[in-house]
Amino acid sequence: MDMGIRGKTALVCASSKGLGRACAFSLAREGVNLVITARGKEALEKTAEEIRAATGVKVVAVASDIATEAGRAAVLAACPQPDILVNNAGGPPPGDFRNWNRDIWIAALDMNMIAPIEMIKATVDHMIARKFGRVVNITSSTVKAPIEALGLSNGARAGLTGFIAGIARKTVAHNVTINNLLPGPFDTDRLRSNFANLAKSRGVSVDVVRQERMSQNPAGRLGDPAEFGDACAYLCSAQAGFVTGQNFLIDGGGYPGTF
Ligand code: NAP
Repeated sequence: MDMGIRGKTALVCASSKGLGRACAFSLAREGVNLVITARGKEALEKTAEEIRAATGVKVVAVASDIATEAGRAAVLAACPQPDILVNNAGGPPPGDFRNWNRDIWIAALDMNMIAPIEMIKATVDHMIARKFGRVVNITSSTVKAPIEALGLSNGARAGLTGFIAGIARKTVAHNVTINNLLPGPFDTDRLRSNFANLAKSRGVSVDVVRQERMSQNPAGRLGDPAEFGDACAYLCSAQAGFVTGQNFLIDGGGYPGTF
């Protein structure tokens, strides 16, 4: 299927690795030019080069922290009017809410709620004026099925989800859609480092933790980031103009509910 977005420009935040990188790759395969971001310059430049070599699209790499105002300003200076915006960032650390003070909460909100809202605020009116825009926010399956230790993530992402539910019904009249993609367990650096920490604390091998986690999922495996990236490309396609305000769970069937 030709997704009808060849020649458009996407700003894909936090995309040197993992799910963001996969979204950038899938969009590039559709002929979309990219601005990609991450804090670490080396991995970011490497990804930019890999995408250029594989797809031939234009890729600009901006090393900055998307959770800060200065970081967002640098990204927006390189790409003030994207046609497509993919919001992403790292996730907050796990822990016990009794140990979280206001500063810890604000850091989580900055990263997983305020950063995407600010990026939308800076770009959505340009999309509306051009009568085309696609915004995808990478959130988490924990928005639907919270994990107790991930309280910072549960709270910040649920706040973002509530905000999106309101505005997504307004922008769609201008062919500007806003949707959330909710990953379950995907085989990325982040998940691998979680497995390593868990293995260390339990005194077992990383492979034991990995096998356990795979067998707990109805699909019997972890998600491949490329599967996630292609779902993102669909939500950014010309054909997806009637899809807005949705929370699209991609978790191998891990969430057990009917809806
Ligand atoms: P990952 O493999 O660790 O990749 C994270 C990417 O984001 C890297 O490119 C990283 O580069 C960049 N990044 C992190 N913080 C940033 C910041 N403040 N500003 C700019 N770039 C930043 O992680 P992932 O697994 O793809 O996860 C992506 C998101 O999905 C996270 O929010 C995670 O919590 C969520 N999620 C993931 C899973 C999963 O199974 N993988 C499941 C549920 C939710 P730098 O470190 O160089 O900045």
